[in-house]
Amino acid sequence: VADPRVVLSARGLGKDFAGFTAVNDVDLDVHHARIHALIGPNGAGKTTVFNLLTKFLQPTRGRIELLGTDITQTKPDKVARMGLVRSFQISAVFPHLTVLENVRVALQRPNGLSTQFWLPLSSLDRLNARAEALLADLGLTPYRDSRAADLSYGRKRVLEIATTLALDPEVLLLDEPMAGMGQEDVAMVAGIIREVATQRAVLMVEHNLSVVADICHHVTVLQRGEIIAAGDYATVSADPRVRTAYMGN
Ligand code: ADP
Repeated sequence: VADPRVVLSARGLGKDFAGFTAVNDVDLDVHHARIHALIGPNGAGKTTVFNLLTKFLQPTRGRIELLGTDITQTKPDKVARMGLVRSFQISAVFPHLTVLENVRVALQRPNGLSTQFWLPLSSLDRLNARAEALLADLGLTPYRDSRAADLSYGRKRVLEIATTLALDPEVLLLDEPMAGMGQEDVAMVAGIIREVATQRAVLMVEHNLSVVADICHHVTVLQRGEIIAAGDYATVSADPRVRTAYMGN
């Protein structure tokens, strides 16, 4: 199988905060149809890297490319429209609406797949079909008429992901998608992320290393703002620097 195309890349990425270097010389390639994990001890710079990639923060050094376009100077809303979306950015889940209603609202948002405010009947049919397909893809069909507030924590997370996918992003950034979940929900969400990644790229920060081992094709390990190892999970987990970094945490 040929190496899938790179959809997001960073070269020499760096960020200084008032003389303190939070991220330094980070190179990253995120591939279509692959799940890429960003891991490392607290304070390693993972959140800062996410903020740099989504352009919430302006890099001090380096260059970022999304789908072949230089986005180093691009504004965050434009970057989102270009196809790089972080789940919380638009995870407006309305607790009193049903699962189906939430997905329909997401699909009708500006930048959503359906951009018209007033929809003729045929478009409404298309909107409904698209909403049902999204629910089916994410295993939410059995919950379509449940209020979002009544879902389990894990299912709520999946609904958030569904509303994000309404924008049809090419790259989906997930910040600790399994945080605070029990084992059953972790396994369920892991399966959903795997499914989602068949049609786009996923970059995720995740502390649960067994999940990373299970579903991530590529792992980048940060420590004190720098990459100390990168490769598949077996490779990075055997790396003495990674072992030391995690024991020292
Ligand atoms: P992680 O997400 O891996 O825990 P962060 O990216 O949040 O790490 O933080 C990396 C380092 O940058 C930390 O030392 C943190 O204190 C520092 N940092 C993050 N944001 C800021 C900021 N806005 N101003 C100053 N220092 C910051």
